[in-house]
Amino acid sequence: MPLMVTQLTPFRERLRALGARPCHEERLLRLWLEGRALDTPPKRSTHYLPATLKAQLPTLATSLDALAQVVSQHQGADGSQRLLLQLADGQTVETVLLPRDGICISSQVGCAVGCVFCMTGRSGLLRQVGSAEMLAQVAIGRRLQPVHKVVFMGMGEPAHNLEAVVDTIQALGSYAGIAHKNLVFSTVGDKRVFERLPRERVRPALALSLHSTQVVRRKQLLPRAPELAPEELVELGEAYARLTNYPIQYQWTLLAGINDGPDEIEGIARLLANKYAVLNLIPFNSVEGTPFQRPEWEHCSAMAQALKARGILTKLRRSAGQDVDAGCGQLRARLVNAKVGGKEGCVYK
Ligand code: SF4
Repeated sequence: MPLMVTQLTPFRERLRALGARPCHEERLLRLWLEGRALDTPPKRSTHYLPATLKAQLPTLATSLDALAQVVSQHQGADGSQRLLLQLADGQTVETVLLPRDGICISSQVGCAVGCVFCMTGRSGLLRQVGSAEMLAQVAIGRRLQPVHKVVFMGMGEPAHNLEAVVDTIQALGSYAGIAHKNLVFSTVGDKRVFERLPRERVRPALALSLHSTQVVRRKQLLPRAPELAPEELVELGEAYARLTNYPIQYQWTLLAGINDGPDEIEGIARLLANKYAVLNLIPFNSVEGTPFQRPEWEHCSAMAQALKARGILTKLRRSAGQDVDAGCGQLRARLVNAKVGGKEGCVYK
């Protein structure tokens, strides 16, 4: 039975115990994160592995493969592909391969923030996803398509699993050949993020989920997000954007009749004026069992135009894979519901 680890640090310690020097450790991590076999023959003699380590490569590969397994794959019409992955303890997470060489990974099983329009938020937090498990999502993705961008926008709030997410980002920025600005930390906003990320060698770009410029409405939509007023959130975001030299991506899920009106257009124009930022308007992807509706595309488009006219860099986006349960946590929810309903096995194949 191979030793199971969910974090990267114990795996690295295991490599060292087998005689790996830093160059060997780096080589094996690069191979893994490129989706290649650990026993790929080295081109340079400095990369030859010590015999003890070489002998253990099959066992190490088995341990890494066991971190996450593909349960089902769902091709979207827009070129995205949603994967349901099973972790070693049987929990499941969603990973999405995005068009244009991106991947969206999950940092938690469930989530404690409880955004009212999100399927993942309904289950509460079930457990953290370890750094090795997050990296495994990228390694699996790279076996299926090139990956040049990693966004932490899947299941979970990365700020609530900060140490593991920071470790994952450092590894991706160091060994996976991904530009630091193409690592995107997505959060509802948490002061710990703004304190921590500036201190790191690999500093990711930030996506901040705003959803409303009004304190009361934002609290209703994101009930357990930290108590940060939208003004303070934008102020902290702006300081980080200026430090890193990448714009903040403000995320805005458009809910018909809730946060798509003139009051929010005014609020956004006031809040984001002259900020180093991009506003992404994402029409809600209707989820069974929620009271929210997706606004008409023409209405969303008019809102984007109104904001552009006010000088706000605005993009109207479709969420990836809308035809295959695109809402965060929907695939997992369907699997869990099927099991609760007494139907064993995967319902997706
Ligand atoms: S939208 Fe993100 S932060 Fe909100 S409940 Fe869902 S996973 Fe958590």
